[in-house]
Amino acid sequence: MQNQWNPEVAAHFPGDLGQCVYASRLLGADPDLVLHGGGNTSVKIVRPTIFGEPEALLYVKGSGSDLARIAAQDFAPVRLDHLRRLTTLETLSDSQWHNELRGSVVDASAPPVSVEAMLHALLPAKYVFHTHSDAVLAITNTPGGAERIRAIYGDTVVIVPYVRPGFPVAKHCAAIFQAELSARTTGVVLLRHGLFSFGETAQAAYDQMISLVNQAEAYLASYPVPPAPVNMPDPQLILRQELAELRLAISGAAGTPMILATHSDEQTLRFAQRPDLAVISQQGPATPDHVIRTKRVPMLGRNVAAFRADYEAYVQEHQSRTSFALTMLDPAPRVVLDPALGMVAVGRSAQEAHISGEIYRHTMTIIAQATAIESYLSESAAEVFDFEYWELEQAKLKRQGRPPMFAGEIGLVTGAASGIGKACVESLLARGAAVVGLDINPTIAQLFDRPDFLGIRCDVTSEEQIIQALERTARAFGGLDMLILNAGIFPPSRRIEAMPTAEWRRTMTINLDSNLILMREAHALLKHAPRRGRVAIIGSKNVPAPGPGAGAYSASKAALNQLARVAALEWGQDGIRVNSLHPNAVFDTGLWTEEVLQARAKNYGLTVEQYKTNNVLQIEVTSRDVAELAAEMCGPLFAKTTASQVPVDGGNDRVI
Ligand code: ZN
Repeated sequence: MQNQWNPEVAAHFPGDLGQCVYASRLLGADPDLVLHGGGNTSVKIVRPTIFGEPEALLYVKGSGSDLARIAAQDFAPVRLDHLRRLTTLETLSDSQWHNELRGSVVDASAPPVSVEAMLHALLPAKYVFHTHSDAVLAITNTPGGAERIRAIYGDTVVIVPYVRPGFPVAKHCAAIFQAELSARTTGVVLLRHGLFSFGETAQAAYDQMISLVNQAEAYLASYPVPPAPVNMPDPQLILRQELAELRLAISGAAGTPMILATHSDEQTLRFAQRPDLAVISQQGPATPDHVIRTKRVPMLGRNVAAFRADYEAYVQEHQSRTSFALTMLDPAPRVVLDPALGMVAVGRSAQEAHISGEIYRHTMTIIAQATAIESYLSESAAEVFDFEYWELEQAKLKRQGRPPMFAGEIGLVTGAASGIGKACVESLLARGAAVVGLDINPTIAQLFDRPDFLGIRCDVTSEEQIIQALERTARAFGGLDMLILNAGIFPPSRRIEAMPTAEWRRTMTINLDSNLILMREAHALLKHAPRRGRVAIIGSKNVPAPGPGAGAYSASKAALNQLARVAALEWGQDGIRVNSLHPNAVFDTGLWTEEVLQARAKNYGLTVEQYKTNNVLQIEVTSRDVAELAAEMCGPLFAKTTASQVPVDGGNDRVI
């Protein structure tokens, strides 16, 4: 591991807290040290109270922030003496302890204090850094972990045996530190948890962290992980329905729709194909910091189809445990392993699924390494579930409030690169859905750079490309809940006697045939949507009120409208709702340049403004208006409506 300290950059971070911010960012930037909000850092600073008396404060990373992007205001100043004194108490419940932590913060606007703040208080050095280094965990998470750590570091580190996180670990550490900390101590290793380094300057504490990790890495170098062959799956394998079924089962366990991200790369497949998977995958997380997010793996090296039985047994087993708080943390697994698929990472959102996946990726590395040394040992799964961490988690969930409307759900929008389609993507994202956007325009791939969006270049006239897009959707997010059919073309104005056959056919292919194929291929996914599938179809005013010169367009949209009505009839028994919107005169799309607008307005003897608002309500209809209606049609407001056709046109006297 490279030491990244750069004195020139460090100089831009003034003061003791600034130095701590710089070091924190360096540590946070390395996923082999900390992952997604894991790890924490602190600095002890004496500041005057409001009465002018000096007071020792511990500036410790607040929970909820990420070390890689941390800023000064993400640290909570805590009264140091108060924290230290708490360890003189015999016992403290998690909620009392939590209350004391919160109560000892001197700045009301500070973030909540990290649960590991107490260890920072107990270590006397000015700067204290804590990570969950993969290399150190691979060594501590073996049966002979303590002896190995001792062999590597001699008496320069203090070893803390595994203790349940919370007040007990603080109490335990207070006693150990008092007895064992000396001038020779360079770090503290918490078995099956992580390590602490410290120093009088941020650089010294950082250097110490890197040096401790490097010693661990050097030790690991003598235990190389033996290369194992890996069977890569058939790239033609179509698994979208199985994945949707798996998602339905997991969402049922969670009590809410979940996102499933499938990772079928060499690392995950090699791990999932290990003959000892049944044992190693059930040993618990590598560090308690990963507990809440990773959970355990209930599926053991069998086909996805076998999951349901496994899962039912799993839920029954845990429901019978009185200590298992179902309401607080759902019993759904966060990682599913399958030799054919690799890893399926699960979360309540695409971001959460991403985090589960990344944490487990590191867990796989740690397990493989620990097994190469000896064997992998974590605290038992039972102990993981018995954590009274629940109290703190409950508080966290309360703070988060109500989840967004489409949390854990997946929407697919066609023609998503611009106009109404792009607006639909935005409306679904704003309601918490993960969204797949299809478009023939390759810019779709870069439309949004966020974990809950997947842009796929797709020519909807190609059956094969549609099937591939749905397959990618299921692998990226687990299935499909909402389908918004928007892609379409509006050919140039042409009377019937002048209509070229090719133009007619092309319009039908894009506006009608592609939607039949999409609906047909998406049906199995929509049928397995946890809250039942929804289809929103962007129709047209031309359906009820066709216009001269728009024969191909009007006929294609009318046929699509009829197809939607049949779909509503046929799919009602699967709980799938199919509703249509009929927009008119939406001018903020790529089709309508200022030039075209002016020409059309002039044609009617109107100004552009008059032309845009040429409807009963005399208001402009935007892409966003259409998109918001489409999104709401997929939401609870339309829960009991199917086959509806709602105009979004400002009122049209020919339709009325
Ligand atoms: Zn930790």
